[in-house]
Order: sequence, then C-alpha cells, then structure tokens
Amino acid sequence: MIRMAGVDKFFGPLHVLKNVQLEVPKGQVVVVLGPSGSGKSTLCRTINRLEPIDSGVIEVDGQPLPAEGKELARLRADVGMVFQSFNLFAHKTIVENVMLAPTKVRKIPAAEARKTAMELLERVGIANQADKFPAQLSGGQQQRVAIARSLAMKPKVMLFDEPTSALDPEMVQEVLDVMTSLAKEGMTMLVVTHEMGFARKAADRVIFMADGEVVEDSTPEEFFSAPKSNRAKDFLGKIL
Ligand code: ATP
Ligand code: MG
Repeated sequence: MIRMAGVDKFFGPLHVLKNVQLEVPKGQVVVVLGPSGSGKSTLCRTINRLEPIDSGVIEVDGQPLPAEGKELARLRADVGMVFQSFNLFAHKTIVENVMLAPTKVRKIPAAEARKTAMELLERVGIANQADKFPAQLSGGQQQRVAIARSLAMKPKVMLFDEPTSALDPEMVQEVLDVMTSLAKEGMTMLVVTHEMGFARKAADRVIFMADGEVVEDSTPEEFFSAPKSNRAKDFLGKIL
C-alpha cells in the first residue's frame, strides 16, 4: 500500500531522511519508534506530500505521489492523517466537523454525509456528543472525532503521528482502543507512537529510526526482546 525506496530528504544542510526503504503492505499495522529528531514526523509528512522529497520514490497504492492539482487532493483523501493536535473547527459542531471534507471535497450530499458521520461517531464511541462544539469535549474525545473525520474520507491508509502524546494519561487508552479496533478491521496503518503497549499488541511490524535512517525493521517480539542495534538497545533502555 505504501512503498518508499531510496528516499532522501534535506532541510537545508540537515539530512533528515537517509535512503529510507519502507513497505507497508495492505492491512498491515507498522509502528515507527525512535528518539526525538530521528525523522519520524518527516517520514509521515512525506507520504501525503506535506513535505516533498529530494530523491527516491514513494508510492501509495501502486501510484507515485502526484505533485499538485486534483491528483494531490485525491492522494490527501486516500491517506488520512491524525496528528498530536486535533485541529477541529471550533465554530462547527462535532458532526459538522466530520461532514465537512466529504461534502466539500468529495461532493457528497449533506444528508448522506451526515448519516455516514453519525455512523463514524458511533464507531469511535461519541455519537451522543454530535451536536456539541469541540471545546465542550475532552482531549480524548476530540482526538476520536479527529479520527472519525479522517475516516469520513474513506482513506486507503491512515497515518498517525503521536496521536496520544498531547492527552492526559487517563484519555490515552480510549484513543488507543479506537486505533486497535481500526487495526483489527484491517486498516493499513503507519503509527508513530511512544505507547509501547500498543506497539507490542497491535503492530505487525516495528520500524526503529535513528538519525534519519531506518535502523531496524522487525516484528514487535523481535524488537522488544532482541533488538539488533546498539541504538535500539540504548533507546529501549531509556524507555522501558
Ligand atoms: P519527535 O519525536 O521530537 O517528534 P521526529 O522523529 O518526529 O521527532 P522530525 O520532526 O521528523 O523528528 O525532525 C527530524 C529533523 O528534522 C530534526 O532535526 C528537526 O529539527 C528537523 N526538522 C523538522 N522539520 C523541519 C523544518 N520544517 N525545517 C527545518 N528542519 C526541520
Ligand atoms: Mg515528531
């Protein structure tokens, strides 16, 4: 579903992605781990072309990433992204937030978009909050709305960049539960997270990045019990 080959990315003189090779087959859940500044967010952002790359290829669903225009809008709809900050529209209700992109971008009639939005809110467990405004919801609830909003575009793959790091500890699990059920339903997912429990339980593979390189690519069992590189051992020593 996602294929990256020989990808390099520079910010000025800073080489932030170094010859990255990565495949995420359809239906797999790949967790990306690594120290701060190792390039995890940049990796995610290159996949929906929020950041252009300097060399190599990235393909989503067998197609190279388009640079602009309608094709790019299509790619952005196919590749859902959930960030640390949820960025809901403050002056729209929860259900309106979820309906917005399908009506504006996919031109779905409002009644149909509302029906789908309500189904998605049901799925993330907050249909009863549909007519509230974002500020009336907890952080965990808002992040679940953000996930529903991404799903409303019927993405082929979902990218998550530290979706729980801005949340109070008691709200982390409700968001991870939604992600776990998505994974079980067969969604293709690339997830940057520091939640090792999620990595162990939900990931098919763990990618460990350091200094812009993919240093390890293994199963969670292998990674957590027998990391190969010193950098991964060092990282695990600090967090476990
Ligand atoms: P964290 O765990 O702290 O979120 P990360 O692994 O997501 O870190 P990135 O945000 O991808 O790391 O950053 C990788 C490197 O690129 C860092 O050295 C960062 O300072 C640099 N960087 C990121 N975005 C930019 C930018 N827009 N301009 C210049 N440098 C950037
Ligand atoms: Mg980051």
